[in-house]
Amino acid sequence: MKVGVLALQGAFIEHEKKLEKLGVECIELRQKKDLEQDFDGLILPGGESTAMGKLLRDFDILKPLKEKIKNGFPVFGTCSGMILLAEKLSNSEVVHLGVMGIEVKRNAYGRQLGSFETEADFKGIDKKVKMVFIRAPYVENTKEGVKILATVNGNIVAVREKNMLAVSFHPELTNDTSVHEYFLDIIKKIKSS
Ligand code: GLN
Repeated sequence: MKVGVLALQGAFIEHEKKLEKLGVECIELRQKKDLEQDFDGLILPGGESTAMGKLLRDFDILKPLKEKIKNGFPVFGTCSGMILLAEKLSNSEVVHLGVMGIEVKRNAYGRQLGSFETEADFKGIDKKVKMVFIRAPYVENTKEGVKILATVNGNIVAVREKNMLAVSFHPELTNDTSVHEYFLDIIKKIKSS
């Protein structure tokens, strides 16, 4: 299995390390032609969604990426990656990929209380998952068909809709590999269906 990691900006190297630890080959996606390579799933890392959205547009990757995801390609967005996937942002005009039926609030915990760590249940993973939040978003509304996988203090922090998985936190920054494994399972299921 081979996973592509969007490597325009942000915490992409940490995702690559996590995938390597799990024995999964990864490739960095930086330009439109990289999308033509053979790979089975895609990670949109954390970082800064405005910058990432601008680079996606400048490099002409936004449209082909959107098409790929709409056609059922497995994608996993973490933090800004969740913002890129959202169909609606409650405190921002610009929508980026807009493929997932969620309304997301950016910097939802405020700037002061921007970063914290906690542990919470995650549907489909049979232990508490360590979650690192850095100026994180959370999901304010979900459309029909979106499954809520985790909440922290009543706020939705992990969701799944068909081929799409999105979390508000940074699973690549802890020792735990369970959320990445959860995504790899989604890829395997989609591949074999
Ligand atoms: N606050 C960032 C944004 O709006 C997301 C932060 C992160 O990815 N750690 O894009």
